[in-house]
Amino acid sequence: MTIKNDEEIRRMREAGKVVAIVHAQVEDAISPGVTTADLVVIARDTLVEHGAISSFLGYHGFPAHICASVNDEIVHGIPGKKRLRDGDVISIDVGAILAGYHGDSAWTYPVGQISKDAAQLLRETEQALQLAIEAAVSGNRLGAVGYAVESFARRRGRSVVRDYGGHGIGRQMHEDPHVPNVGTPDRGVLLRTGLTLAIEPMLTAGGEDTRTLKDGWTVVTADGAIAAHFEHTVAVGPEGGTVLTERLARVVEYPVWRTP
Ligand code: MG
Ligand code: MG
Repeated sequence: MTIKNDEEIRRMREAGKVVAIVHAQVEDAISPGVTTADLVVIARDTLVEHGAISSFLGYHGFPAHICASVNDEIVHGIPGKKRLRDGDVISIDVGAILAGYHGDSAWTYPVGQISKDAAQLLRETEQALQLAIEAAVSGNRLGAVGYAVESFARRRGRSVVRDYGGHGIGRQMHEDPHVPNVGTPDRGVLLRTGLTLAIEPMLTAGGEDTRTLKDGWTVVTADGAIAAHFEHTVAVGPEGGTVLTERLARVVEYPVWRTP
């Protein structure tokens, strides 16, 4: 586990700003008919424009600048020729390296108008992330973060994906500790001010089981239910996590299908 000083956290915030800009550009382009490969071009150009490089491209051979996971795809979706359709949800995961430091943030976006339940799942996963960030208080145990996600999801009747979680982050995209999305408050390592974590709850509208597609990357829900994935890079502090990948703009109201 590495503790970052103020200067390192400042640099991570700069990387986080680029991540947020990439998200904003990609979000603008998400609409029915667009392919996930089109979104990569936008992400790539935006990274270049800001002097950053993708954390993901070439990572253990991952073939793209961003991950794009549609509907039942949870994480690590490989962008390609697939065209987005009205009613889809798409999780975009962006990692950027700027001046040696990483920022990592994921968000699930609606494509056109989505179902009420899908909109609810997106809101709830974002809320779970918010609660987890609030639990990233120095002096807490790491289990408090997972507990925040798990207990909220249980109250809402959602499943938490246990097979994947967050991670420490800094000079490396993946540093210690692993940050599970489940836990008990009195378990796990002690959180210290300056510890930087990527916190990333994944909730589903069905069960928690996952499987990986033949491409070796794309993780989907075993039961085909849709999934949502929200992630921020945060710095642990006395009042909770400080977000280093703050979004430029955020969806306030998801456009949902209305029954006539
Ligand atoms: Mg990520
Ligand atoms: Mg991550």
